[in-house]
Amino acid sequence: MKKLPYTLEQMRAIVREYPTPFHIYDEAAIRQRARALKAAFAWNEGFKEYYAVKACPNPAILDILRQEGCGMDCSSFTELVLAKAVGCVGGGIMFSSNATPAEDFLYARRLDAIINLDDYTHIRFLQENGGIPRTICLRYNPGGEFRLGNAIMGNPGEAKYGMTKEQIFQGVKDLMALGAERFGLHAFLASNTTDNSYYPKLAEELFELARETRDRTGARMEFVNLSGGIGIPYRPEEPEADLQSIGQGVREAYDRVVRPAGMKLSIKTELGRYMTGPCGSLVTTALHRKDTYRQYIGLDACAANLMRPAMYNAYHHITVLGKEDWPKDQVYDVTGGLCENNDKFAIQRPLPKIEMGDLVCIHDTGAHGFSMGYNYNGKLRSKELLLKPNGTVQLIRRAETPEDYFATLEGFGYDLKP
Ligand SMILES: *Cc1c(COP(=O)(O)O)cnc(C)c1O
Repeated sequence: MKKLPYTLEQMRAIVREYPTPFHIYDEAAIRQRARALKAAFAWNEGFKEYYAVKACPNPAILDILRQEGCGMDCSSFTELVLAKAVGCVGGGIMFSSNATPAEDFLYARRLDAIINLDDYTHIRFLQENGGIPRTICLRYNPGGEFRLGNAIMGNPGEAKYGMTKEQIFQGVKDLMALGAERFGLHAFLASNTTDNSYYPKLAEELFELARETRDRTGARMEFVNLSGGIGIPYRPEEPEADLQSIGQGVREAYDRVVRPAGMKLSIKTELGRYMTGPCGSLVTTALHRKDTYRQYIGLDACAANLMRPAMYNAYHHITVLGKEDWPKDQVYDVTGGLCENNDKFAIQRPLPKIEMGDLVCIHDTGAHGFSMGYNYNGKLRSKELLLKPNGTVQLIRRAETPEDYFATLEGFGYDLKP
């Protein structure tokens, strides 16, 4: 059974002050996950998690992770601004961008962030826009299919990211000639996987590539960046990733490849989903029940607040607060109000009988939830709340207003007051 960090009574009190819909994040759970990750890689000197800012770009959340020793993984100008705002600069920022604008590189260099280059041609581009730093990372794409055992976990050959092996070798040589001294290697080959062998397999490939790069170029290889990709059990019956086992698997690969090569590499990660995904939920109110060819429950939130179900047909667990133990003897499509039939948080989902006014909580929205929101149909972004370890609640983002939505219009002079 999937749990929420609040009861019906607690949530009723919160909703009196902060009406639904909103995403609420659990600070204690975020800290606990950051500590568990650190413990799993404590064997590796220099290990550092760079939280993928895009997963939950609210400074209150980023600051909690920074306090736990995390850096920030950014891929745009505004994400860099957020990282700086919570006190991350220099080696505290990994800038893993692609199709990068010049001003983003210039700003990343001004903050002295670690640059993770997506492409061979970006060497020249970075040289002209900010200059080549001493420490630099290159993103690898092995092509083909990425498999764990028989399972195809990803299709790097179709992915826009990263460089071929030959481009990595040539890139490192070019970068050395331009003054770079210390190198990292990065790859991201599977997304949202709870398979404990993903990081160990990826690490082994990157360790071997690091050894080969050193042998071919004489470069000083300093770190390997395993990026994101560790998944979470969105469904109650799915397994949890086991961080201890993952850390141990990476350690074994390290002992097989890195030690015998006489090398020393620190490990970096850029987890987003794993760190905060299960620590957030979208709290909504049931507004309408509709009986046609199916039974529908219409909520006060929609895909503009949580896009994953509409975009990826992703499962998000739903709890009707206070009815956790009721029989799931109804079958509903749970919808938002967009004029798009894919605006459904759940399709043909067995749930307890829902009354209008019930608090309907959608689980696992702490990563790639609010942040993927948009304004289609003039829908406004919700507020965000932080549930503190002492049980109090802090507003960490207010809801958008119509004025926010209209704020970027130019040159008309219409009266947009309701
Ligand atoms: C999205 C992304 C991440 C985070 O991925 P998760 O699946 O949330 O762990 C990390 N690094 C890069 C470069 C990304 O694009």
